[in-house]
Amino acid sequence: ERIIDSEISEFDERFEQSLRPQLLGQYIGQHTVKHNLQIFIEAAKMRQESLDHVLLYGPPGLGKTTLAAVIANEMEVNIKMTSGPAIERPGDLAAIVSSLEPGDVLFIDEIHRLNRSIEEVLYPAMEDFCLDIVVGKGPTARSVRLDLPPFTLIGATTRAGALSAPLRDRFGVLSRLDYYDTEALTEIVVRSSKLFEADIDPNAAVEIARRSRGTPRIANRLLKRVRDYAQVRGTGSITMDMAEQALEMLQVDPLGLDHIDHKLLTGMIERFRGGPVGLDTIAASIGEESTTIEDVYEPYLLQIGFIQRTPRGRTVTQLAYEHFKMEMPE
Ligand code: ATP
Repeated sequence: ERIIDSEISEFDERFEQSLRPQLLGQYIGQHTVKHNLQIFIEAAKMRQESLDHVLLYGPPGLGKTTLAAVIANEMEVNIKMTSGPAIERPGDLAAIVSSLEPGDVLFIDEIHRLNRSIEEVLYPAMEDFCLDIVVGKGPTARSVRLDLPPFTLIGATTRAGALSAPLRDRFGVLSRLDYYDTEALTEIVVRSSKLFEADIDPNAAVEIARRSRGTPRIANRLLKRVRDYAQVRGTGSITMDMAEQALEMLQVDPLGLDHIDHKLLTGMIERFRGGPVGLDTIAASIGEESTTIEDVYEPYLLQIGFIQRTPRGRTVTQLAYEHFKMEMPE
């Protein structure tokens, strides 16, 4: 089981739910995104209109779902949540959008995985708030237009590039979420500790933040494990010593890299002289799907400059060699 896994169990889901901020003021970091949204939300409320459609994109665990719920809260409307793969037929989408109240938010996670026939139903729904439904079959088939209440579509994706251009163009607001810096993550760890009623040394909070790969979901997961450790091995209080021991036990190194990252990078170094290696070869060598590597693990390794993408594949950089105290070949 990996801390940085993108799969979320039902238990995790409940745990995350309990830590979700409700308002923009409680949403930590992402200043530009928050600032822009604040203005758009205020303007829409002043005009008593629904908010423009919003596309949130960025690596997993950075708070897209959380932000969508915050937006709905700030707009004082309901939110309905679904995901691209869950909408199988145009009728599924029609059922959801026709149940919305005026101004409501429809959140579609993994929107890049919507199939094309559904996207086509979505275009008029987004643009003119109506649905064109075909009734009947063969020569008697005719199209019926249904009016919808104005609503806001919030789409979330880890791959904005995989969205079709006509869909992307229909979003009025495009916001990219970036990895969080240590300061913001420390704030998140301290906030979550308060919600857990756990006592935490500020230095321990910084240490957990530093090893969280810029990702709030990972920060919260690490905090939870460290808290367990401190409870069993210590007095329950999360001291620096407890945090360090627990993080070592979890095999999360000072940069937040775990045993799979180590395997991935050292494998590239030892077997392929640091690359270039194709994504599929890397995937096969560590037994993961290529898309998981591309969407979940690789973005952080690119961000910290440990690997580079080249037209011939991925290469390991000098920085990574230094991290593993290995000699880079000429
Ligand atoms: P995915 O795209 O995989 O669904 P996500 O980007 O939607 O991930 P969330 O589920 O929204 O991520 O967030 C993960 C966890 O991180 C939540 O428990 C949430 O409480 C916490 N979190 C995310 N962003 C923030 C933030 N800005 N401030 C405080 N907590 C946050």
